[in-house]
Amino acid sequence: MQKLKYERPVIQKMNAGLMNKFGTRTEYEPVKQIDGVSVKSLIEKYGSPLFVLSERTIRRTYQDTVRAFKTRYPKVQFAWSYKTNYINAVCNVFHQEGSWAEVVSGFEYNKAIGNGVPGKKIIFNGPEKTNEELITAINNDSLIHIDHFDELYQIIELCDSLTKKPRVAIRVNMDTGVYPIWDRFGFNYENGSAYNALTKIVASGKMILVGFHCHIGTYMLSSDAYAIAVRKLSDLAWKCKSELNTTIQYLDLGGGFPSANTLKGSYLPASDTNPHIDEFAESITQAILQAGFKTDELPLLILETGRALIDDAGFLLGSVLANKRLSDGRRATIMDFGVNILFTSFWYEHKISPAQDFTHHTEDMVLYGPLCMNIDVVRDSVNLPLLNRGDHVVVHRVGAYNMTQWMQFIQMRPNVVMIDEKGNTHLIREAESLKYIEQLEKMPEHLSSFNI
Ligand SMILES: *Cc1c(COP(=O)(O)O)cnc(C)c1O
Repeated sequence: MQKLKYERPVIQKMNAGLMNKFGTRTEYEPVKQIDGVSVKSLIEKYGSPLFVLSERTIRRTYQDTVRAFKTRYPKVQFAWSYKTNYINAVCNVFHQEGSWAEVVSGFEYNKAIGNGVPGKKIIFNGPEKTNEELITAINNDSLIHIDHFDELYQIIELCDSLTKKPRVAIRVNMDTGVYPIWDRFGFNYENGSAYNALTKIVASGKMILVGFHCHIGTYMLSSDAYAIAVRKLSDLAWKCKSELNTTIQYLDLGGGFPSANTLKGSYLPASDTNPHIDEFAESITQAILQAGFKTDELPLLILETGRALIDDAGFLLGSVLANKRLSDGRRATIMDFGVNILFTSFWYEHKISPAQDFTHHTEDMVLYGPLCMNIDVVRDSVNLPLLNRGDHVVVHRVGAYNMTQWMQFIQMRPNVVMIDEKGNTHLIREAESLKYIEQLEKMPEHLSSFNI
């Protein structure tokens, strides 16, 4: 029999912390594999830290979400939000499933084109679109979602030199009962800006008004807010039809559904409290069906869901670098990943599981990242079994925003792999190298040498 590990006893001050219904302890079982592939073998082959994406989970989550809408409403189209995770292999899983592309910059637009998405199936959102980008999008027949009056005038001016009529929608912001209102994007509904923009678009005669867009927020916990948004957009559609003689083809409700990640300071885990996707689907589809559209004039419902479709499919594997005691006696464990690659740890209490067997003893601890920066905290208080140098952990639900908002600060970005549905592992983004980082730098001649 293998000798059991010795763990030094400690005397601790009682500190109740924030309780939840499960008590303070969170982890009971190690997570030794992902989709049948062992964590240890992944780290041995691809290094630590390592992002792992489960193709099976992406497809299942997508199919479940689409089903929730399509069984309630006849015309539904999803468009993958590139900024949520624009690694091409990830985008292509969504495109294979039938998703269009939703982009918020020229760079993302070109990524979608590069992936082979037909121009007609790219939704171009965002406050910044250059003349060049707009001309490309217009010539490709893409859906251009206008964000502000200056962009509207920019397009009207561009139209004079183009033969194609752009297909446009406006982004509308509104009071849906969730505060603060996201009113920095698009035209406001209540103060009349949205209708004002519509009159200008129709009067110009230079564009085809095809729909309305809104994106009322992210990690939304109220399905009612979407029903309010639908009612306000439908009201605009009615006004468009009766006063401007223009029928629109779609309502794009944007993204914003929450994932099962728990927000910092929450009393209960999000998996217990967040509304299910069915609730959002029910609110949205019921509101459209009851808005008074004739059956043969029901608008296409577009959704640009990001976070809720990919978070669960992403895992971050990491290793313990060291343990120490802080001056107040708390245990601190230093990991080889920090806020540089786990940006979402600023607002989530990520679930973290040890990847090997552990003893029954647990302790409240702080998990730090490897950066030389005080705010590099992965979890400020988590009750975990004791982890030793060299042990591995699995961070859950990291698929959304981390692989786009990660920063190359102090450390380089690690490998990203995808496990396919047969259990084969594919490298989908290589770890960065010094050469890769420095290839963009230029050294002025007079600084090229020194003598110390
Ligand atoms: C970011 C974004 C999305 C995706 O949002 P989630 O909250 O991740 O679902 C959709 N549409 C627009 C316009 C966005 O900016």
